[in-house]
Amino acid sequence: MDKTISVSTNEAVQVIVRCRPLSQKEVLAENKNIITTFPNRGVIEVQNPRARTENEKTKLFTFDAVYDWNSSQQTLYDETVRPLVSSVLEGYNGCVFAYGQTGTGKTFTMEGTKEFKDGEGIIPRAFEQIWAHINRTTGVEFLVTVRYLEIYMEEIRDLLKMKHMKALELREDNGQGVYVTHLHSQTCKNEADMFKAMRIGNHNRTTASTNMNEHSSRSHAIFQIVIEMAEGKSKSVKVGKLNLIDLAGSERQSKTGATGDRLKEATKINKALSSLGNVIYALAENSAHIPYRDSKLTRLLQDSLGGNSKTIMIANIGPATVNYDETIVTLRYAYRAK
Ligand code: ADP
Ligand code: MG
Repeated sequence: MDKTISVSTNEAVQVIVRCRPLSQKEVLAENKNIITTFPNRGVIEVQNPRARTENEKTKLFTFDAVYDWNSSQQTLYDETVRPLVSSVLEGYNGCVFAYGQTGTGKTFTMEGTKEFKDGEGIIPRAFEQIWAHINRTTGVEFLVTVRYLEIYMEEIRDLLKMKHMKALELREDNGQGVYVTHLHSQTCKNEADMFKAMRIGNHNRTTASTNMNEHSSRSHAIFQIVIEMAEGKSKSVKVGKLNLIDLAGSERQSKTGATGDRLKEATKINKALSSLGNVIYALAENSAHIPYRDSKLTRLLQDSLGGNSKTIMIANIGPATVNYDETIVTLRYAYRAK
């Protein structure tokens, strides 16, 4: 094989960047917007507020797509996630990750907001797409189940069953692949059942922690939808699995001066995120060895990363001067995954 032409050709892995608007607080603190996007070419330009030479003034990055503060939840969904959910409905697996430092819009992207019209994020839109498909399809029997779990400090917890808030184990089995022991699977008969499961999980996540914001920025939340489809007289079964993941904040903890438990926690987060980056990079490069085993997150998602699966990594950034360093770190991480 010619190495010069086999660079990053895997279309099953898409890396996109989304930049949120300047916040009120940032405007009041007289932060400038240092981001320019060129959506048609997937290019993003970052101005370096500390540039000393002409050369240092701007940095350019290219991705599969870029979305700025003017792009709607609907557009982002239709252009990126809708095709992935369609392939899940044909029996493939898929993952959508929201990556980025705390406060850049991961939860806004995944869950969205009710504060304004069409503010719904990827998760409710995926529910809608899935049930619209099921309700108009004849001749196929669907069995839909959901699971909702989080990984906190490399421990897995069930968000649908509080009594399982103790850590669950990852097991490997020849027939079943990698699975979580005793994880609750909730059968859903309709869209409302799915929303209910999501609400219960979100509620459990909030009440189980003393400080919701701090907790959510340090844990990975994984909403998993499994769709079994039995077709025709033979009842041949296809299974599609969709994983929607709100990752822990990617901020570098060395800068925050964390010590003790906090530092241990931070080290684990950084390790899981870099292991995810390594897996996505290896997949994008069609590498022979994919290092799934380096974290619980990648082991758990092994059957949905690679093979015939599709992956979308959404790197979220803020546009403010004050976030320059973290923005560059995020774009480098995402660029490597591209
Ligand atoms: P994270 O989950 O990464 O910590 P959030 O999703 O909580 O970040 O977003 C932080 C704040 O920014 C929230 O108030 C959210 O509503 C707002 N926000 C994020 N992205 C956007 C966007 N694209 N448009 C408008 N507001 C946004
Ligand atoms: Mg969040």
